[in-house]
Amino acid sequence: MFIHKNLINGVWFDSRETVTVMNPATKEILGTVPASGQKEALQAVDAAAEALPEWAFATAYKRSSFLRKWHDLIEENKDTLARIMTLEQGKPLNEALAEISYANSYVIWYAEEAKRMYGELIPASANDKRLFVKKVPVGVVAAITPWNFPAAMITRKLAPALAAGCTVVLKPSEETPFTALKLVQLAEQAGIPSGVINILTGDAKEIVGVWQRDHRVRKITFTGSTPVGKLLMKQGADTMKKMSLELGGQAPFIVTNKADLNEAVKGAIASKFRNGGQACVAANRFYVQEDVADEFISRFAELTAKLTVGNGLESGTVIGPLINEKAVMKVEEHVHDAVSKGAVVLTGGSRMVEEVGFYFQPTVLKNANHNMLCMTEETFGPVAPVMTFQTVEEAVKLANDTPYGLAAYVYSSDINEALSLVEKLEYGVVGLNDGMPSAAQAPFGGFKESGNGREGGRQGIEDYLEVKYISMGSI
Ligand code: ADP
Repeated sequence: MFIHKNLINGVWFDSRETVTVMNPATKEILGTVPASGQKEALQAVDAAAEALPEWAFATAYKRSSFLRKWHDLIEENKDTLARIMTLEQGKPLNEALAEISYANSYVIWYAEEAKRMYGELIPASANDKRLFVKKVPVGVVAAITPWNFPAAMITRKLAPALAAGCTVVLKPSEETPFTALKLVQLAEQAGIPSGVINILTGDAKEIVGVWQRDHRVRKITFTGSTPVGKLLMKQGADTMKKMSLELGGQAPFIVTNKADLNEAVKGAIASKFRNGGQACVAANRFYVQEDVADEFISRFAELTAKLTVGNGLESGTVIGPLINEKAVMKVEEHVHDAVSKGAVVLTGGSRMVEEVGFYFQPTVLKNANHNMLCMTEETFGPVAPVMTFQTVEEAVKLANDTPYGLAAYVYSSDINEALSLVEKLEYGVVGLNDGMPSAAQAPFGGFKESGNGREGGRQGIEDYLEVKYISMGSI
């Protein structure tokens, strides 16, 4: 089930030095992957650069057919992929299966979009001229992905890159390399030519450092933390790389007096606790208007207390472990900080010491305020701090009071109030009465320090394309 090798130019290889991968539910070692380094990083770019002309000049229909085959193989192997994901990442098996479907929806969407990279014919100011605009692939793309969505973050980058005619060097997270390696093996089985996708595991700084210095790598596409994203942007300046950065969020979840409370509570649970809160779009802080605050908070806490936490392989588990000890410590710190500043724990509040794995209880806090870390920094865990507000203007101010701008949620059944709120929020993605807004056909990305560029939708492929303008005189 696990692939313990890396792939460059169609050749799978292992290495003496390895990286160990752990199951966060049990702390058992699942296996090792190669610790590839600078030499392999360079070879991977050589392979991707070599494969580029043929792939870039293949017809869009041909690239599309490879993506379709990859899609079909992912679908056939979804149970294996989901199992690998649960073992290395911890999320419940049904959530892992849902992620595989979601990941695969990007592959099929971009198999279609490959055929729609339309150019333009511009009216010239003289009759002996023809002005054309053509879309061409940016070239070799370096993709760096995180552990929270081990499959979707890969297909969301690779599918549009391949559709556009780019070749790829990929470095998945060291925490979840097995899902990535399996996906790449399936791409190879789909017949995607050697060198078009190369994958390395190992030290991020070494591998990505080589890619950053290499002028043949024309684009970095990264999902991960804001500090690393900023670092990558600085490093990429020397070779003027294009950058797609999906970074941290600090998502506000606003419930007004005019909200349908059943829907709001359902949306809050989905948005907060999917993947144990380890999502950049996860609601991080809740703002509830005074008249409905008590009722919302008590229903939300009651449902949260019923969520079953456990090993993702066991049926009935709704929330798995966090990814590692560092993640648990951060969540603990946020809860302690909030409580020391006056928050009240309604349910949960501590790590599950009786468990071996990295478990934290799903937690609801009330009386939160903006002096608390959990209201100003991304918690990335199952903690829901709730603060009340009086007017919607106040809610907008509180929601926008952050350098982040990825996702925001609004629950209101009053159309005027809802739209006015949505318009004022400085966020790239807004879920209006919707706790799960992500979709392959829609553009996903952040304002402000949450990143650059968009993934998904027809916008998602543009990030992998250059605009070439051709001015033709008389022949
Ligand atoms: P997270 O907190 O989600 O792990 P990171 O930003 O640390 O976020 O990691 C996301 C991805 O970025 C991973 O693949 C990781 O290996 C990689 N990464 C981490 N640090 C660096 C770095 N200094 N340079 C390049 N890539 C990095």
